[in-house]
Amino acid sequence: MDCIFCKIAAGEIPSKKVYEDENVLVFHDISPQTPVHMLVIPKLHIASAAEVTGENSWVLARIFEVIAKVTAGDEFKDGFRVVSNCGSYAGQTVFHLHFHILAGKKLELKMG
Ligand code: AMP
Ligand code: ZN
Repeated sequence: MDCIFCKIAAGEIPSKKVYEDENVLVFHDISPQTPVHMLVIPKLHIASAAEVTGENSWVLARIFEVIAKVTAGDEFKDGFRVVSNCGSYAGQTVFHLHFHILAGKKLELKMG
């Protein structure tokens, strides 16, 4: 499958890894929108939040456990945002489910 995040998960494309386990990978976004901008992905290919099912939803719990782990440091103490864009209207450009972690500055409240 020609999926850039599957290739990153498989180590075929390099990334700046922050955290990795059997099911989840966290790496720095190549084009950071905030001082800290990381992406959290399941290693399993799921195209977007719209493709979550009873079969694969267990990985969402793992993802949010990892999000809590990687945001335990001082740079996140004032807060951070978790975002998942789903579909073209939301600006999704990589069709492998991912959660942006945005931090390091006070973020705008505007959501749309
Ligand atoms: P989205 O627009 O929500 O689908 O987010 C895709 C994100 O992936 C964007 O913020 C990109 O900057 C990021 N991205 C694309 N290719 C890479 C890559 N090779 N390594 C790290 N981040 C990437
Ligand atoms: Zn994929």
